[in-house]
Amino acid sequence: MSAAKQSVLVVEDEPSIASFVGMYLKRAGFAVHVAGTGNDALETASADPPALIVLDLMLPDLDGIDVCRRIRQRSDVPILMLSARDEDVDKIIGLEVGADDYLTKPFNPGELVARVKSILRRSSPERRDFVSSVLEHGNLRIDAGRREVTVAGEEVQLAPKEFDLLWDLLDHRGLVLTRDQLLERVWGYTFAGDTRTVDVHVRQLRRKLGEACPIVTVWGVGYKVSTEPKAAKAS
Ligand code: CA
Repeated sequence: MSAAKQSVLVVEDEPSIASFVGMYLKRAGFAVHVAGTGNDALETASADPPALIVLDLMLPDLDGIDVCRRIRQRSDVPILMLSARDEDVDKIIGLEVGADDYLTKPFNPGELVARVKSILRRSSPERRDFVSSVLEHGNLRIDAGRREVTVAGEEVQLAPKEFDLLWDLLDHRGLVLTRDQLLERVWGYTFAGDTRTVDVHVRQLRRKLGEACPIVTVWGVGYKVSTEPKAAKAS
């Protein structure tokens, strides 16, 4: 680790969980700030921008989704969301709020620390070592430099991990990538993580890109993009 500690903002209104999470992160070498409400989180995040935010979904004022959405309007800071229930997963990753990852309570604090580290490793400035800066597939065009995706010239807004996942699959056209491989490549996990994260992101990409989404499910294995784009539909 470098000498300067990276700071993590923990947004959680339950003091026992906040201090528990804070303790593990401090032990792992991070500087930790805690915010107990959504408004407090927004204030702290803009006054003293952290390297990463651990954000609980259920807060007493704004909910975590609102907080995430508002932060995303002005910042690409990585956000790891915490939720109490599995059913919230689609909501968290699915509502275009742009969280990078999530954990369901109760979680293992060691796993939380591992995820924080891998998200940070992936979001350091040098992470995007693109060989070429633009990929095209049918009427889909991805510009890595501008972080811009267009379908037939129309821009489509993608969350950061949706973009990275789409890029990675397109960049490996013709190859099947397993969910674990995608987790490692896009999210930086070095262990077998919760692969639903991948599925939820693929679902979102299909919803946002519609017919132009080139991702094919390979049952029992993972996902791929064919080398040839689907024939354009006659209009
Ligand atoms: Ca809470």
